[in-house]
Amino acid sequence: MQVTTSRKHKDILGLDPQEIAALIEPVSPKTYTSRQIFGWVYAKGVYDFYCMHNLSKPLRRALSSKFTIRLPALVRSVSSHRERVSKYLLSLSDRSSIECVLIGMRDKDTFCVSTQVGCRFGCAFCATGRMGFERNLSASEILGQVLFLRSASERDRQLVQRPFLDGARPDKLKSAEDESPGRQDESSLAPTLSPRGFNVVFMGMGEPLDNYENTVKAIRIMQHPDGLAIGGRRITVSTCGIPAKIKRLAREDLGVGLALSLNATTDELRTKLTPAGRQFPLKRVLEATRYFAEKSGRRITLEYVLIAGINDRPSDAKRLVSIASSLPCKINLIALNSSPGVKLEPPSDEAVRRFVQVLYPRAPTVTLRKSKGSDIMAACGQLRTDIAPDKPGVDKRRREKVPERARSRARTHTPRRRTEPNKRRGRARGEREDRQARTGRRGRATDNRRAPGRTGAPHRTSKRPPTARTSTRRGRSP
Ligand code: SF4
Repeated sequence: MQVTTSRKHKDILGLDPQEIAALIEPVSPKTYTSRQIFGWVYAKGVYDFYCMHNLSKPLRRALSSKFTIRLPALVRSVSSHRERVSKYLLSLSDRSSIECVLIGMRDKDTFCVSTQVGCRFGCAFCATGRMGFERNLSASEILGQVLFLRSASERDRQLVQRPFLDGARPDKLKSAEDESPGRQDESSLAPTLSPRGFNVVFMGMGEPLDNYENTVKAIRIMQHPDGLAIGGRRITVSTCGIPAKIKRLAREDLGVGLALSLNATTDELRTKLTPAGRQFPLKRVLEATRYFAEKSGRRITLEYVLIAGINDRPSDAKRLVSIASSLPCKINLIALNSSPGVKLEPPSDEAVRRFVQVLYPRAPTVTLRKSKGSDIMAACGQLRTDIAPDKPGVDKRRREKVPERARSRARTHTPRRRTEPNKRRGRARGEREDRQARTGRRGRATDNRRAPGRTGAPHRTSKRPPTARTSTRRGRSP
């Protein structure tokens, strides 16, 4: 059964059970219905009202006629040949697009989600920052990515476990149709979601704290015990450092982790790498992160992207040690991932080794992170939707087919589709009558051309045999 996607239908994704209850009240005044629907969507991964079998049939029909559960549509996916990492380009209801990444782990997969279309902060090392800012994502669009990635993760695991009798690779077995979690039929009623769980990191496109309300709302819905029930320890919010919002997040009592994208140890360099540094000096940012650590009881993660000749000198490492010793934190070092349009270079292995040597004995926990998915532009700072990545691994067949499907899913039942054949018929009749008036003959003219969109033999409507017409024409030629 197909999920309704008309814009006339109100979307219930991104609403908590109380908000769903208020929305569906004209259809079902019983409050427990909203909890049932919430459970179906988030706990069981069912996005079609017709498949919610503990609701009565008339109620399912009424819900389907007025509401929808709209997930983002897949436009394109690309999988790494090196690791179990996949990047998905998703289309939103207004045709904006975003990217999100599935990072396969041995125990729990990690979902890297976006919070904005583009980003207004324009960090020098980040491809998203070069796109500029388009708009904030709604809580529904943020949650849609999580639900999409959960389905993709489940499918990936099932494919990995399946024996490949025909020698096909896992990515060959996936079809564009399979990729859409929004379409379900009666056979998908038995939920197959594993209880394995997953991590969510807000490290995709955009600055999560710049879209504060929607990010927090999405986190609260993710944590709801009747839905995804993800603990705060499984969620990390990454920020370039907005002090007031960091403090506000600390007071929300969500239990989530905070990753500060530090990248520089002086205000001067920070301002060059992250324009936000001018507005938010390092001292204020570090004071806010200290407040967060005290409030949440969790260590902060200091993310430090190493850039050749910019911030990879031993003097930078020493200043980083002094910052780290003033905070309950751990340090994640990441060598810069190159992106088109970003003119900075990653450091040499030797420079990384020197930097790490200065840090190790002095700083708390230091991890040199291996960037997963850099071969498909899915690593840190590489997400960008305004350039087509013609990279190895992109399934061209899917790239051509799916945009059309994505468009048709977003398309509503507009009158144009229904009236067009009538209009065409009317136009054809008018032309026929004109022709009859000119020639004084009745009957349809011969049309020996192939009808558009049809295959097979040319479409003939004349009662006269084609040979007769051909011979007449020959007779008239000089
Ligand atoms: S690093 Fe984050 S804040 Fe900076 S431009 Fe990229 S997405 Fe925006």
